[in-house]
Amino acid sequence: MSEVILEDVSVSFDGVPALRDVSLSVSDGEFFTLVGPSGCGKTTTLRTVAGFEEPDTGTVEIGGVDVAGVPPEDRNVGIVFQNYALFPHMSVRENVAYGLRYRDPPGDVDDDERVDNLLELVDMAGMGERDPEELSGGQQQRIALARALAPGPEVLLLDEPLSALDARLRERLRVVIRDLQQELGITTIYVTHDQAEALAISDRVAVMHDGRVEQIGRPEAIYREPASRFVAEFVGDNNLLEGAVVSTDPPQVRLAGGGDEQATTIAVDSLPSENERVTLSIRPEDVRLGDASAPITLSATVDTVEFLGDAYRVHCRWDDQSVLVKYTGDAAPEGTVTLGIDPETVTVVGGEGS
Ligand code: ADP
Ligand code: MG
Repeated sequence: MSEVILEDVSVSFDGVPALRDVSLSVSDGEFFTLVGPSGCGKTTTLRTVAGFEEPDTGTVEIGGVDVAGVPPEDRNVGIVFQNYALFPHMSVRENVAYGLRYRDPPGDVDDDERVDNLLELVDMAGMGERDPEELSGGQQQRIALARALAPGPEVLLLDEPLSALDARLRERLRVVIRDLQQELGITTIYVTHDQAEALAISDRVAVMHDGRVEQIGRPEAIYREPASRFVAEFVGDNNLLEGAVVSTDPPQVRLAGGGDEQATTIAVDSLPSENERVTLSIRPEDVRLGDASAPITLSATVDTVEFLGDAYRVHCRWDDQSVLVKYTGDAAPEGTVTLGIDPETVTVVGGEGS
């Protein structure tokens, strides 16, 4: 079993906190992703698992063992970094074999055969004699992956392995990585700043912000039930609208601003605090342009329309608030439009100022 468990891990650099009480638990064989903006602590979390940083407080367990004080080479983890340049003076084969230097992988295959198997695994069979400089960026990252997997690690750590590649290649290689992870069943912690990538390939996602974990959950839950204003804004397109509390029992809010009070009152599951004002999250695809029979209707005007191919991204204005709508009609809308909202698609993501 190769779970990875962090409990209340804090790390600081020169007295400045980089991780604040980070707790997370990655199951055996899980594809777990850390996502968040630059500087939020993703790399530090990964380096702490790998043993390059020691926590000031808190514990790290790998495979049921507290790894405090265990050096990186004895932690049985494989790592791929964003720009982990391959050794230029070594062939592809030698680069992959370098991954075998510390330990004998499980099984009784000799090193040459093991390297061949790994090259095949990352779809680079027959490329062993090439020099790294002859390879494309995507091929180099495949080799870096093969090198990390060479010793048969219990845990694979991937720090933005695709971020140096162009968009098309990134989308292709993320599926390659996911397929490989499934095939090997290896516990994986993947780091990216790209929320779409995180949602696309992960079993579960941890959204990080300012050294803390804001939310952990399956991609669907992160997207549909954001636990905070930060998550609601960071993950996917979203509308954050101001709401006023109408009553606390039962919990009801009203979209702030003009309009018919009755028509914009929404029953919600719960309210975050005693605040009189709250922030409401509504996804653009849940705002139905032209649906006048929806439980809540807003009369809005169209500001800007972007054509996306499969839909229009319509920027509307309703009572001084902007409302983003994903519209799948045949033609770009214009002028005054009706926006229909189903209260069930509205999530309260925080009180005033949160
Ligand atoms: P991310 O990978 O999410 O971009 P990092 O984990 O690299 O974030 O950094 C988290 C915070 O810790 C940042 O404020 C960064 O400047 C700081 N930090 C990271 N590594 C060091 C270091 N070696 N020395 C000083 N500060 C660091
Ligand atoms: Mg980083």
